[in-house]
Amino acid sequence: MGTNTVNGVSIEVEGGAPTVETFLRRLKGEAPASVRVDGMRTQVVPALDDRGFAIHRSTELGRPSLVIPPDLATCADCLRELADPTDHRFRYPFLTCTQCGPRYSLLTAIPYERSNTTMAGFELCSACRAEYESETDRRFHAEPIACPICGPRLCLWDEQGCEIAAEEGALQRAVALLDEGLIVAVKGLGGFQLWVDAQSEEAVRRLRDRKRRADKPFAVTFPSLEAVRDYCLLSPDEESLLCSPQAPIVLARKRRDAALAEAVAPGNPYLGVMLPATPLHHLLMASLQRPIVATSGNRSEEPIVIDEGEALARLKGIADVFLVHDRPISRPVDDSVVLVVDRTPKHSERSGADKRKATQMILRRARGYVPQAIRLKNSLAERTGSGPVLAVGGHLKNTVALLWEDRVWLSQHLGDLSTLEADLAFRQAVDDLQRLLQAEPKLIACDLHPDYRSTGFARELAESLSVPVVPVQHHHAHVASCMAEHKLDGEVLGIAWDGAGYGTDGHVWGGEFLIASYRQFTRFASLRSFRLLGGEAAMKAPGRSAAAALWELMGETMVHHDLPSWNMTGDQCAYLAALLRSGIASPWTTSMGRLFDTVASLTGLCAQASFEGQAAMAVQFAAEREWEAGGGSVQGYPIELVTSESSDTKWMVDWRPMISAMLDDLRRGHRPELITARFHVGLAEGVVRVAQVAGLPRVVLTGGCFQNGLLLTLVRQRLEAVGFAVYSHSLVPPNDGGLSLGQAVVAASTSSEEQSL
Ligand code: ZN
Ligand code: ZN
Ligand code: FE
Repeated sequence: MGTNTVNGVSIEVEGGAPTVETFLRRLKGEAPASVRVDGMRTQVVPALDDRGFAIHRSTELGRPSLVIPPDLATCADCLRELADPTDHRFRYPFLTCTQCGPRYSLLTAIPYERSNTTMAGFELCSACRAEYESETDRRFHAEPIACPICGPRLCLWDEQGCEIAAEEGALQRAVALLDEGLIVAVKGLGGFQLWVDAQSEEAVRRLRDRKRRADKPFAVTFPSLEAVRDYCLLSPDEESLLCSPQAPIVLARKRRDAALAEAVAPGNPYLGVMLPATPLHHLLMASLQRPIVATSGNRSEEPIVIDEGEALARLKGIADVFLVHDRPISRPVDDSVVLVVDRTPKHSERSGADKRKATQMILRRARGYVPQAIRLKNSLAERTGSGPVLAVGGHLKNTVALLWEDRVWLSQHLGDLSTLEADLAFRQAVDDLQRLLQAEPKLIACDLHPDYRSTGFARELAESLSVPVVPVQHHHAHVASCMAEHKLDGEVLGIAWDGAGYGTDGHVWGGEFLIASYRQFTRFASLRSFRLLGGEAAMKAPGRSAAAALWELMGETMVHHDLPSWNMTGDQCAYLAALLRSGIASPWTTSMGRLFDTVASLTGLCAQASFEGQAAMAVQFAAEREWEAGGGSVQGYPIELVTSESSDTKWMVDWRPMISAMLDDLRRGHRPELITARFHVGLAEGVVRVAQVAGLPRVVLTGGCFQNGLLLTLVRQRLEAVGFAVYSHSLVPPNDGGLSLGQAVVAASTSSEEQSL
């Protein structure tokens, strides 16, 4: 087996550690005489739960992408060396081996070998070279290998970029400054993080003020798994995820008595927790021995900063000092975020292993998971013989993807495409995919929205390459992405609920029930429309959605409401009523996200949203409190399914009876906990009604609203109880981060159909 060549053989095996070890031993020792194994490298990759044996044609073609590995957390052997005073890499922040360390984040070209990484500039010392060249060494061809003699060097900079301390001194000084409550920008694996003491209310507040981030929760790093247990209630699945080579941020239940600053995650019962994933992080956390806020080094929704010079400029006024090093990062790779949905489905056709996987949901896909490809069902792969397809994603939480034969490579999370930095990262990611995979797209897929930056880019690129563009409807892409993950074929009922997506009628969709295949969809049902009051303005002010909903329910009398919980004055209502009467700048929407906003506003849970999803989260958390308080059977609000007058959708899910019953409850003085719980149950029952009328056995749940673990569980349980097979996301995000996968498979299927006609 060749090492580091494009034509190397790539073998993926799955199983328990002892089985895999036996396989590796026998592969080397018992290979037939005609086979010569020159060298072997192993790499831990996320399990795909494949069964059976197959040889993939792509391997014969020697597609270079197969050997682009993701970044992996420091392994146990390296940690032992890090703590061993007799080892020559004792306390060296950049030690790695074949099993761990940076890969994708320092790759500059293919094939993956040292000269094609950002380590190319570091000449190996004789000791490192000996390890690198010895077949029996665990660092045999470990490309980013380094030691204190020949490798990168750590130093601490002040705000001007002047060196204050170096190496061990830099570490100790950074720790001391964090102890004092200062904000330290740490150059991590895939970019800068901002660190601050998570137990100091004042320090965390200062970070919020400087970052201009009012409420959006911060993630927290803990020194050890034991330490996380002191602050969070962890399930075994959550623990193994935290300790996995991907080492993502895991959204865990915070203990009520957790001694953390409230400003870390205001009003949030969950906490994004992670463990150290690099030697540098291990060294810092071992000295700090306390929870530390480690949030992305950026402003708002920009991609993270990767370069130390850039950090001085872009994080100026945010960080007090900069802990940097001279190992360049080749692309921003943020920390991944994963949620374990704790209620395992009651009965499922799938195997036990699959069930476990179904409970894990990636909300932000980056470090550790990227650039691992999503494998498609063979039949789809056969249809996509037309050549590589590039998909440029949506607008928020953008990712891009490249489909080639039977696989789709998704880029890391890039952020919201409204800033210059995000636009640059987006262009680099598009370029990366083509360059690293050595594939030029024959087709480009984008969102149907004519004004998305990504759509404009797709058109430009398509023109320069003289290839067709396939616009894909937003919610169709959501559904297709979930289908692709589960290798589903044929037609499904796809339930795509999110904030906003451009519909085929030019309206803002977001509460959709589609009968969909990869190739096409029909809008089977959707939420009853209401006004998106003031367009974008409605996203930040949930009261606007509430006013628009009440307008549909009661018209002018909305102005004289008698709801003490609704934070709206008569004047505000009169103003919004005037807007509603005119309809100016207020397109029609079927957005489920805005319906959640309506509930958040009417119950008084959220009057102002400083980040996307904040109001919906407040509704979810209140409902979860109802069940925690022992609320057993909650009666859902009534929701009506009526035939639609509109030509493009068959059924309309009328939420008015629901809001009407909710108003009665509010007037009776019921708690928001009960009201939001009844809302969730009502939605789940509504889904079952639609699914029964649609009559398709397979139901796909997708879109940003299904990041809500409670909603996902309620809908799943009720559907499964009456015999539906239910599919939700586990490999790509249900939010717009998964759109590029869906766009790619839809475009590939559409084009192959045209060709065969
Ligand atoms: Zn290692
Ligand atoms: Zn060395
Ligand atoms: Fe969406």
